[in-house]
Amino acid sequence: MKINFYTMNAPHLILIGCGFAGLELIKKLNGKPIKVTVIDKNNYFNFQPLMYQVASGGLGPDSIVYPLRKIVSKMPNVIFRMAEVNFIDTNQKQIYTSIGKISYDYLCIATGAKTNFFDNKELEKYCMQLKSIPDALDLRSDILQEFEKALSESDSGKIERILNFVIVGGGPTGVETAGALAEIKKYVIPADYKELDASKMHVYLIEAAPRVLSSMSEISSRKAEFFLKQLGVEVLTNTSVISYNASNGQLTLSNNKVLETDTVIWSAGVIGKTIEGIKTELVSRGNRYKVDAFNRLEGYEDIFVIGDVAYMTSDKNYPNGHPMVATVAQQQGRLLAKNIIRLLKKEPMQPFIYKNKGSMATIGRHKAVFEIYGFKLQGYIAWLGWMFLHLMLLVGFRNRMMVFLNWLWNYITYQRAIRIITRPYTQKS
Ligand SMILES: Cc1cc2nc3c(=O)[nH]c(=O)nc-3n(C[C@H](O)[C@H](O)[C@H](O)COP(=O)(O)OP(=O)(O)OC[C@H]3O[C@@H](n4cnc5c(N)ncnc54)[C@H](O)[C@@H]3O)c2cc1C
Repeated sequence: MKINFYTMNAPHLILIGCGFAGLELIKKLNGKPIKVTVIDKNNYFNFQPLMYQVASGGLGPDSIVYPLRKIVSKMPNVIFRMAEVNFIDTNQKQIYTSIGKISYDYLCIATGAKTNFFDNKELEKYCMQLKSIPDALDLRSDILQEFEKALSESDSGKIERILNFVIVGGGPTGVETAGALAEIKKYVIPADYKELDASKMHVYLIEAAPRVLSSMSEISSRKAEFFLKQLGVEVLTNTSVISYNASNGQLTLSNNKVLETDTVIWSAGVIGKTIEGIKTELVSRGNRYKVDAFNRLEGYEDIFVIGDVAYMTSDKNYPNGHPMVATVAQQQGRLLAKNIIRLLKKEPMQPFIYKNKGSMATIGRHKAVFEIYGFKLQGYIAWLGWMFLHLMLLVGFRNRMMVFLNWLWNYITYQRAIRIITRPYTQKS
């Protein structure tokens, strides 16, 4: 049978969300006897691990995203629709989207995660976040705008507030963003903003746990903190944020300290991004859907959930669910594709078991911490390993080349290539 979405007589799978998990799923279902409709609110795949480099002007957004249509165009049994899914009707087996209703035989939810503000509406309204390309561009504009603002300010107290950058959350995103900002202070300000006294810029990293990168080993954590401090980042561990008053810039911390700042970057965790229509009792810890060992939504034979939004407790090494990282999402996407094929052939499915190969974070030029298959590396070799792996993991040859050339340029010039404000950011009032 010639494979063609419109002419083939095969069950119809709708995939909601084509991030790390969804992309692996469709790659493995390419050419298989199943019709797949991919729905995503964006028309691109976003390589989130490098988003902090877009925010800090090191890379342009087009270097880390890849058009979904281009991916799908080579897959005869897969089509793409750009739409936001708002509601799932599990009885009628239909989804309601911004472009209308669509029926499914099988459904896969892979909507990822959103920033966790712990129900604090004020923090949600006034803090910057790093979860999407528009967020990264907003942050890039905001950082550069703050420098421009500082240049035209004469009140030294106000200059201090403008040049205080606070990052909340010492996970990989927080650590990498803090490192990037510290490098801007070291290399970009003296070159581009010569009237500005760089010593007035302060980068704070606030972490509620006793150490940054708490998901990594103690040795990697300590080394990362050392690297951050070497770069001039003020690391406050065992400290959490109590409140933020955007009108006077006061960020109150648990140790009663108050920092004055116009820029708070919130990277203190994520929660699953769920969709209306699924019974609330199926939403568990971290706002994630409860799934069985085959990524099936509990109680449903025809609905699967993969990636950050899936909460699986059957994997004996992860009784409290898997970490919300790209490798889990990718492995679940790949296995689910195989399981769907098995299901169609009426063969037994295989349970998901996460193979954790390691994790890493970079802290500016020549410095990174890297844990792979139990080996722990820090410093220059780890930094080279971090760059190599990220280049390999990017989607598309053009993106790899663009990122490589940008990194080379940044390395030689000590600059961040994209120091431009293309869409000015205005803080919500
Ligand atoms: C800044 C940052 C840095 C990170 N760094 C790392 C790292 O270094 N290493 C690592 O392993 N992990 C990292 N992660 C985590 C990693 O990106 C996630 O674990 C991974 O993206 C999860 O994949 P996913 O497919 O579940 O979700 P995503 O990749 O987020 O994909 C979800 C997709 O669903 C779409 N979507 C959502 N809701 C709807 C809707 N209602 N309708 C239509 N479409 C919708 C979105 O547009 C998106 O394309 C990072 C995350 C962030 C935010």
